[in-house]
Amino acid sequence: MNQPFGISEVTAKSALVRCGIPGIDYVINPYIGCRFACKYCYASFMGRFVNKQVSDWGTYVYVKTNLPELLGRELTRLKDKGRGKEIFFSSVTDPYQGIEAKYKLTRNLITVLADYGFGGAVSVLTKSDLVTRDIDVFSRLRSISVGLTVTSADDGISRYFETYAPPVSKRLQALVALNGRGIRTYAFVGPLLPHFVAQPRQLEKIFRNLSDAGTKDIFIEHLNLAPYIRNRLLAEMKGADREIVRKFYNSQTKSYRQDLEGIIRTLVTKYRLRLLADMVIFHKEYQSVPRDNAPAIDRILH
Ligand code: SF4
Repeated sequence: MNQPFGISEVTAKSALVRCGIPGIDYVINPYIGCRFACKYCYASFMGRFVNKQVSDWGTYVYVKTNLPELLGRELTRLKDKGRGKEIFFSSVTDPYQGIEAKYKLTRNLITVLADYGFGGAVSVLTKSDLVTRDIDVFSRLRSISVGLTVTSADDGISRYFETYAPPVSKRLQALVALNGRGIRTYAFVGPLLPHFVAQPRQLEKIFRNLSDAGTKDIFIEHLNLAPYIRNRLLAEMKGADREIVRKFYNSQTKSYRQDLEGIIRTLVTKYRLRLLADMVIFHKEYQSVPRDNAPAIDRILH
């Protein structure tokens, strides 16, 4: 059942936020919240800043309307026009979620960077083909790379886990369009959904699709099942096949990760892709529920 969705306009205190992601100096999050409502989203903790619960994730978006103005001021404080720095859109929201079509906030922010002559690099990551709207402003930046998140080769699966995001076929089309216009692209294959060890052909299809789209650089990330993510995910998966739910739990074991990484390295070589960060990103080893602990899983599901 669809939950009600609310949009609010707010003013922020700063645009550029320092961050700890390797290789990234600043992040810009034009929105608080994300309408795409992915079931596995790690950013659902952001609700605590706007008095919302993790379970509310996907039902609200706050639009930081004054961000372009703030960014214009903050850029003047960077040394040497920001040469050597990298700005990333976005760490806890999708910069091209649906309401961006109306607000054009991300577009305006990129335009501010282009107009200023920002000397560093800009990187964008989204699940939306709306990103192709802004190819004209991307072309004005000194260094830009645009990533599309691709977690499956099947629109039905992307619709299930990434409820309101454009289906994966649209994202692949976006990569083709960006590549065709000379914009450097990458793909973010993450989180790796837990059925892939049992279905390596499905995983192979993702890599083949990316290669066919002309995108060679990929980040890959294991599923992060921190407790707050796990609880929301399992609540969202109520009614799902128990065997699938167990696969999610077991995806947190070291042996599962090693099996999956073996498959991935073979595919990366086969399709001549470049594994960025030279590793499959993994956050933390969380305790999995033993296979025979069905009652524990049942308690969470009901
Ligand atoms: S698109 Fe990203 S930020 Fe938005 S809900 Fe999905 S994982 Fe979270």
